[in-house]
Amino acid sequence: MDDLQFGTRNKRGDWTPGAHLEVAPMWLRPFSFRKVLAWVPEYLFPWNAFHMVTALLYWFYVVPDVEVMKTLSSGWALWLYAVNASAIFVMYGSVELFWYVRRKQGTRFKYNAKFPSEQPSDVFWFKSQNIDNFLRSFFISIPLWTLVEVLFLHAFAAGYVPWLSWSDNPWYLAALVLLAPAIHEVHFFCIHRLIHAPLLYKWVHSVHHNSVNPSPWSSLSMHPVEGFLYHAVAFWHLIIPSNPIIAMFQLHIAGFGAVNGHIGFDKLEVTESTAVDSHAYAHYLHHKYFEVNYGGDGLIPLDKWFGYWHDGSKEGDAMMQARFEKKKARMNAKAART
Ligand SMILES: [Zn+2]
Ligand SMILES: [Zn+2]
Repeated sequence: MDDLQFGTRNKRGDWTPGAHLEVAPMWLRPFSFRKVLAWVPEYLFPWNAFHMVTALLYWFYVVPDVEVMKTLSSGWALWLYAVNASAIFVMYGSVELFWYVRRKQGTRFKYNAKFPSEQPSDVFWFKSQNIDNFLRSFFISIPLWTLVEVLFLHAFAAGYVPWLSWSDNPWYLAALVLLAPAIHEVHFFCIHRLIHAPLLYKWVHSVHHNSVNPSPWSSLSMHPVEGFLYHAVAFWHLIIPSNPIIAMFQLHIAGFGAVNGHIGFDKLEVTESTAVDSHAYAHYLHHKYFEVNYGGDGLIPLDKWFGYWHDGSKEGDAMMQARFEKKKARMNAKAART
């Protein structure tokens, strides 16, 4: 595909999409029902549908019997870890293999023309972003993902929290499924903004931000505090009356869905003329500029409401620069006072 029909490339070879980011259409004014309708398929396919399918596959083929889960034990916890780790290895690994190792698409639709393997740096374990990110994912974040999973499954199985059945509550549970991506966005925005507070950033979140030019393995490369808080989004289903399948869907939006922001390409070409939108640009801008776009794509546009939104346009850039200037002035004034 010709990526220059969809955006521009600068001297360094970095590609920028021509279209600017837009928050979900129900927040746009004047309100357009037509735009909302046109957005629904994009909301469901392919990503949220994919997470629904994996949640169902887990429920029917991976998750142990309720009787087993009534007791906490390392046996079924290790089994879940093995499946989570293998699934991530296959899913993230395929994007890594085809787009980063074999580079089947070259740098078409790639925001940053460089590949992480070309940029060794001392901030990473073994000076390699790929090795560092891979080890942190498999030995820190995926175990914490599994811990969250074991705890909520046990809570449902042991009867500590209500377990609503699909036959008695079909409409309520269906609505909860549709709301899960919004719960994810609000939860992620809150914990993410929190760990951008100066000390927490230094101790916790800087680990994730070492990857200024993220690739799939960067997605779950996190400090343990972040790895736990991030996946703990599934615990909302212990507070809201829910069902373990929806809690699993919520967990998969976090765990499997983390790759979306870190794909590095705006579109993944599937055939000569078809491509899948990665939805990576908002979070790519977060890795590039740090203090913008703490949430996701603007499903619940908290970034817009708090003034952190960067839509990729010149105006977005100017707004960000003005905010940074103000912050600098505030810090200088504070330093002068003390
Ligand atoms: Zn990130
Ligand atoms: Zn961040």
